[in-house]
Amino acid sequence: MQTQAILLHEFGGPEVLRYESIELPEPGAGEIRIRHTAIGLNLIDTYQRSGLYPLELPSGLGSEAAGVVEAVGEGVDSLQLGDRVAYTGRPPMAYSQARNWPADRAVAIPDGISDEEAAAVMLKGLTTWYLLHRSYVVQPGDTILLYAAAGGVGSLATQWATHLGARVIGIVSNQAKAEVARQHGCSDVLMADDGDIPGKVRQLTDGEGVAAVYDSVGKDSFWDSLDSLRPHGTLVSFGNASGAVEPFAPLELAKRGSLFVTRPVLFDFISTPESLREACAVMFKAIADGAMKIHVNQRYPLAEAAQAHRDIEARKTTGSTVLLP
Ligand code: NDP
Repeated sequence: MQTQAILLHEFGGPEVLRYESIELPEPGAGEIRIRHTAIGLNLIDTYQRSGLYPLELPSGLGSEAAGVVEAVGEGVDSLQLGDRVAYTGRPPMAYSQARNWPADRAVAIPDGISDEEAAAVMLKGLTTWYLLHRSYVVQPGDTILLYAAAGGVGSLATQWATHLGARVIGIVSNQAKAEVARQHGCSDVLMADDGDIPGKVRQLTDGEGVAAVYDSVGKDSFWDSLDSLRPHGTLVSFGNASGAVEPFAPLELAKRGSLFVTRPVLFDFISTPESLREACAVMFKAIADGAMKIHVNQRYPLAEAAQAHRDIEARKTTGSTVLLP
């Protein structure tokens, strides 16, 4: 059958995204065909589009979506036609009306969570889960520093960390985003461009510094993040919004109080169907318990994915964004 999808034939700016008709084969053994109802937008999609995270071309794009099971391949008994499912993972081809996907990498969407919310939370919510529960395990009473606090991952992480009993200092780029970050639970919000982040963090923590920094900005914020930590604190460097972090000497960690640095990626924490299911159970329970709400603040037609890329790269979005096929 034919379906419409965004394809990438070359790396570059948003203009390289092409909305085209492609041939989709019947699902193979162990696969389902998902008719997408909502597709999650992630800053990572822009790294793949630009070539920072290279893909083999031509390629699809997009790593999280929700939809309905439209066909099942041989040997699939865990899911049935008409089931509402969501997924995150590779190869990227979520920016499409329909795709085939391994049944054991799809999860049923719980009642009470809409397709848009599920599409927005599979990659970003599971990232929030491993950041707070596996990378640096947040403890009640900790103070943590979180970049892009009003963004997709940032909005979820602020809420969940607050629910776990942490105090969250957020960093954002403007006052409107500061208001969003406060509404989600940040006790204090710093402006990214005001300078002296470490000095301000020390003022807010009686000179001590924070237990952990969750840094998605990367290159431009790396040293500020190290300088904001308390002794034995952990820098979780998990994104490259300003570019990839450059090489550094481990001795710099000794100079600042025996610090820890980790550079994690979601897919290492959900690499097996069992680990994926366990993580989803914890995440969906957190949503059901009210630990976090999913705020879908922007919607674009799938065919206008390029505009969505322009807006997230220009820092115009807050919360989550979905593309609608
Ligand atoms: P967001 O919705 O958070 O959008 C990105 C935000 O980054 C912007 O809104 C902006 O917030 C901030 N930002 C800071 N500097 C820049 C810059 N130079 N250019 C653009 N934006 C900048 O995106 P996502 O929720 O999709 O992702 C958040 C981060 O998490 C990304 O860096 C992504 O790579 C990372 N990530 C990492 C994963 C992993 O497993 N390692 C998995 C998922 C996401 P502001 O204007 O307030 O500064």
